[in-house]
Amino acid sequence: MKRRRVFVLLSLSMLLISCKKKDDKQTTDAVTMEASSANEGEKFVTQWGSDDFYTEDFALYHTDHGRLQIFDVASKSDRVFCFDPGCEHDKYRKVEVSPDGIETVVEEGCMARNISSYTVMVQGDHLCFVKYPRDVIQSDLQGKNRKVIATIPPYSPVQRIIYYKDAIFGDYSTSYEILEIEGENGEPDWIYGEMKEKDTAGIARVNLNDGMSSEIFKREDYSAGLYYLTVRGTHLYFAYTYSEMQYMAPDGQMWRPMQEEWKDLSVEEYLEEREKRCWMEIYDYDIDSGEVRCVMNGLRRGRVVFCNGFFAVQPGLPGDGNKTTLYRYTGEAFRELEGFTLSQVYCDRHLVGLCDGEYQMIDEDTGEVLKRVRNPDNPCFYPKVFIGKSCYGGVAGEDWISTSAYISSEDFWNGKFENVILMNDKEK
Ligand SMILES: [Zn+2]
Repeated sequence: MKRRRVFVLLSLSMLLISCKKKDDKQTTDAVTMEASSANEGEKFVTQWGSDDFYTEDFALYHTDHGRLQIFDVASKSDRVFCFDPGCEHDKYRKVEVSPDGIETVVEEGCMARNISSYTVMVQGDHLCFVKYPRDVIQSDLQGKNRKVIATIPPYSPVQRIIYYKDAIFGDYSTSYEILEIEGENGEPDWIYGEMKEKDTAGIARVNLNDGMSSEIFKREDYSAGLYYLTVRGTHLYFAYTYSEMQYMAPDGQMWRPMQEEWKDLSVEEYLEEREKRCWMEIYDYDIDSGEVRCVMNGLRRGRVVFCNGFFAVQPGLPGDGNKTTLYRYTGEAFRELEGFTLSQVYCDRHLVGLCDGEYQMIDEDTGEVLKRVRNPDNPCFYPKVFIGKSCYGGVAGEDWISTSAYISSEDFWNGKFENVILMNDKEK
């Protein structure tokens, strides 16, 4: 994401170095702040489909077992994101006893477990995360002094949030009616009502200064869904997908087509028929003016990467050969960029693509390949995020279990994959 103003970033390396020395007995005052002198480029990336938060200097990520960890680039150290001395993390259990003696487990596992759902991010000297289903919590960097700073409206539990200056964008998709009821303290609460034939998908914008919210996008369709929310400059981009028809049989039988003529198809044939009827549209929301508009429709459902001034679409249908199509988007019009046959695309300061087993850094204006490196197979590192001097990804081991991993961009482009660091290899 691109920020217009210089952002204050924290130095977590100090914290981590002090943690290493004293293990879990560190004090919280080791956290220091420093104003970043870096220019206004991309400062952080949240990876679609994961809860992880990446910056050049550190990553807040979840292990395969759902525990929040922090990896610090400067010290190459990795630890559980919990600052309670002596905490045993998973064994932590908080029970509340009511006046009449009824015990209720209110927390299972410490904050490293608690902050395990939805997007977590560091903004200035605060940590922000969503507490299920829709409360946005702000805390200090140790997860303490928590307060609810916004509640995303009750359209449905929020799937993901994106922060932009003093606003939060949250997206949702639901098949159910949402009904308002009276909650515990007479406050409104919401429950699910009837299941509907079509899904509703939308995006809410919450102003963090006054807590006011508005719905900036809402659609109702078969299999309606929102994907790839990305802020670039002062625009929010996203992909909306839907289907021409309902897939589920009314009796709830999973994955059976509604169409009589499809009933004898193999699973593969059925999925292909299904995908042919799934569509994707690209939207551009101007954060300042509030205008939202569709800039492209009629696309096959697939993966989208929004970069600066262009976006890449990679169809999900196997028959399309995984070919990525790049579109130059000027804010008014788009055109297809020819000559790119990339099977995977990432956005860094330049476009990064995978082409015939080779990663290429490409000047998207000229098409010139600036850097190239063979895709390594030992260790088999695959990138997920490029952000300035850092590259985060995964490693496929012998049993094909992926593990969070880090390599510096310099080592990556020099092919020094022996320097890949496994981030959560200490987890039991
Ligand atoms: Zn803990």
